[in-house]
Amino acid sequence: MNYNKKTVTDVDVSGKKVLLRCDFNVPQDKTTRAITDDKRIRAALPTIQYLLDQNAAVIACSHLGKPKGEVKPELTLAPVAKRLSELLGREVIFASDTIGPDAQAKAQALKPGQILLLENLRFDIGEEKNKPEFAKALADLAQVYVSDAFGTVHRAHASTAGVAAYLPAVSGFLIQKELEIMGGALNNPKRPFVAVLGGAKVSDKIGVINNLLEKADAIIIGGGMAYTFKKAQGLEIGTSLCEEDKLDYAREMIAKAEEKGVKFLLPTDNLCAREFSNDAEPVLTEGDIPEGLMGMDIGPKSREIFCDAVKGAGTVVWNGPMGVFEFPAFAEGTRAMAKALAESGAITIVGGGDSAAAVEQLGFAGEITHISTGGGASLEFLEGLELPGVACLLDK
Ligand code: AMP
Repeated sequence: MNYNKKTVTDVDVSGKKVLLRCDFNVPQDKTTRAITDDKRIRAALPTIQYLLDQNAAVIACSHLGKPKGEVKPELTLAPVAKRLSELLGREVIFASDTIGPDAQAKAQALKPGQILLLENLRFDIGEEKNKPEFAKALADLAQVYVSDAFGTVHRAHASTAGVAAYLPAVSGFLIQKELEIMGGALNNPKRPFVAVLGGAKVSDKIGVINNLLEKADAIIIGGGMAYTFKKAQGLEIGTSLCEEDKLDYAREMIAKAEEKGVKFLLPTDNLCAREFSNDAEPVLTEGDIPEGLMGMDIGPKSREIFCDAVKGAGTVVWNGPMGVFEFPAFAEGTRAMAKALAESGAITIVGGGDSAAAVEQLGFAGEITHISTGGGASLEFLEGLELPGVACLLDK
C-alpha cells in the first residue's frame, strides 16, 4: 500500500471551500452530555488553524456515536461546535443538518477564514452505507477535501472515502503523521524491528501477526492471547483465556516464525489468580499453570526477557496490554513494557485503544515517538490491509 499521499500543504486552498473530515467522536457524560475528554478536538486544531490561516472556508464534519442513520438529539455535534469555538477563539457556525437546506445555505454563505461544523454525519444512513448521492451532496458543498480522521480510515464511508470521487483529496496533518511514522515502520523499519502484541484475543490480531512475521525481527506476545499459544505448545494453562479454535493457527505461527528466523517470545512465568478480580491473591507460576488458576499478567522473568528485547530495538510497535492492567495488582507487566519503550531510544509506536490508554494512564506518553489516534484503524494498518480512507487520497 502506498502511504506517500498529498497533504494539505500540497494543494492551494486559499479562498476555497474545504470539506474537512475530523474525528470529533468524543466521550460524553451519559446524563449531562458534557464532553469528558476533548483530546480529539484539540488534535484537529493544527489542520483547522492551518486552513484558516491559508484563508480557506472550512466546512468541518464528523460522526459522533452510533445513531445508525437516525436523528438522535443526544448525539448532536452542537457541544463539539461550542468547545471547538472556545479552543479556536473564534465563532464556529453550526449547521443543524448534514447535506440539508441549513448546511447548504450556511456552506454557501461561508467566507474565507470562517469555519462551519455540520451536524453528525451518521444521522444520515447515506454516510455509513457510502451512498453516492450522499457523498456527492457533501462534496458539492466544497472544492477540496481534506481527511484528518485517522480513526475512521479503515471504513469506506461517504465522508471518509466516497467524497474523494468528486473532489481533489488530501490528508491533514494528523493522518500525514500516522502515514509517515507507521508507514515508515512497516515499509522501511530501523532494525531490529520488534513487535509487541497483547490484549485479550488472538483472533483480533491474526492478520497483524501474519503481516508482521514478514517484516519484524522479533514478535513478543503477552496478555490473555499468550495462553492460546502456550496451550498450543503443550503446556497446561488452567482457566486462562484460550481460543480453542485458534490452537492450530497458533502452532502454524510458531512454526512460521521459526522458518523465517523471527524471534517469537512468549511469557515463561505468569502472575495468576483464582478469580478475575483486583483483590485476588496473585500467585506466581512458571511453566504449566495449575488447575483453577488463570494467567492475569506476565511474571518478573518474562518482564525482563521482553524488556531486554525491546531495549536493543531500532523500531518497536506495541498493540495490546501485557496483562489485566486495569487491575493495579496485575498492571506491572504492562507498566514495565511502557517503561522499556520509553527508555529504549528506538522509534516507538503504540497502537490506539487499550495500549494507548495504558501508556497514558501509566505516565509514559511523553516519551513515545507516536501514539496512534486510531484503534481499529491502526490494527488494520499493521495488518497491511488497504485502508479505504487512505487509498482514496491523491498520491504524491
Ligand atoms: P484488546 O482489546 O484485545 O487489546 O484487549 C485488551 C484487554 O485485554 C484489556 O482490557 C485487558 O484487561 C485484557 N487482558 C490482558 N491480559 C489479559 C489476561 N491475561 N486475561 C484476561 N484479559 C486480559
